[in-house]
Amino acid sequence: MPERDLPLTVFDEKVLQRYLFFILHSEDVNDRSARQRMEKLVNYPAKRNLIIPEVIYYNSTTTDENDKEKKTIDYGHGVTTLAYKPDFVIYHSGDESRVGPLSGSGRFLEVKWDYEQRFAEHQWMALMKNKESIVASINDPTEDEWKEIVGKKGTELINKYPSLKDEDWLINAHKNIEHYHINSEHFRDWAIRNVGTLVDNQLNVGAKRYWLMLMNRPMMNNWRRMLDEKKKPFWAWINQGKNLSTLMEMSGGDEIMFVEAKSHSGQGRWRFKNIDEKQLEKDEYSVKSMYHLKITSRNGKSAYRCYLGDCFHSTFFETCTNSSCTSNGCEGCGNGEKRSMNNVEWPHFIEMEMIGSPFFLEEWKKLSRGGLHKRLGQNGSKPFTPAELSRYEFGRLKGQITNK
Ligand SMILES: [Zn+2]
Repeated sequence: MPERDLPLTVFDEKVLQRYLFFILHSEDVNDRSARQRMEKLVNYPAKRNLIIPEVIYYNSTTTDENDKEKKTIDYGHGVTTLAYKPDFVIYHSGDESRVGPLSGSGRFLEVKWDYEQRFAEHQWMALMKNKESIVASINDPTEDEWKEIVGKKGTELINKYPSLKDEDWLINAHKNIEHYHINSEHFRDWAIRNVGTLVDNQLNVGAKRYWLMLMNRPMMNNWRRMLDEKKKPFWAWINQGKNLSTLMEMSGGDEIMFVEAKSHSGQGRWRFKNIDEKQLEKDEYSVKSMYHLKITSRNGKSAYRCYLGDCFHSTFFETCTNSSCTSNGCEGCGNGEKRSMNNVEWPHFIEMEMIGSPFFLEEWKKLSRGGLHKRLGQNGSKPFTPAELSRYEFGRLKGQITNK
């Protein structure tokens, strides 16, 4: 009888991808040195705008025998390969044009357990050609060893495609890809800290969470403009503070309340810092309308999404690059350009569906902040990060708004 065994190596590369994405956005002191080692790499942008997972990179298309369009990368000199989907595209902050499949200018980050295995030729080539690329893995080569590995790969590719022998990106391949060592001890520590979240997401379980989003007058204008489109409700958050990490915690099925509100704290500001909590609890605010929604997700539980390309959503909340432009989705008024992913400002989205009917009050209604004191202040102030409420707080607030 043939031998059987049960390997305990159950993680795949996806776990390493999540790990890197989280530590690159983490403010946890435990993740600091892992993050800073990445930020010190020459190929990692000094000022980052955005990191987006799984973008398809290609620069041409061909039609196959069944008339289906196939995305490919054309390297010139008659050499074409499959399109490449880097694990992450990192966009530096800057004035780039919204061109090509990356909708801007991005650097590639490829994550591998072990770069000696499962590294396909078209991946190597795209990393070399795009330049300023990074390969992250558990391996720990010295700088010289890494250069030698990439150099050898470059030579192999020249032997295979002699027409590319004068291409600088191939001859100097070793200058175009840097290595980032994933410290296995730190990965282990991170995995233990986050295993609960990972398992909950995989099993599609975990308690439903409740969120609040206060809306000021300009936001209400955008909110109504969005509802007028008669599409599935959606909203975008600015690329600042804890917005991305908070949206990453939102799951399909969570409930969220969008509330038109204004503060009566200091001069209409939603203060929350350096103030006596007792005073904040007594601070008043007013509400005018309320929308109760369910957060939706397409696959799996995570609801966060980011849009590339020129789709309807991607520029809906964006002004153009003309510095005086204040019209969202203007498509370039005053000779400004559509923003690229290098200077996009509102890239973090969730989609929702309405629960029941929106609720409108005839007059502004005054409420006390009570136990929501600081959270209301934070949520009402830039960068307008959604506040998490308990199920009880959520129901109580909804009642306070809608009860006669
Ligand atoms: Zn404009």
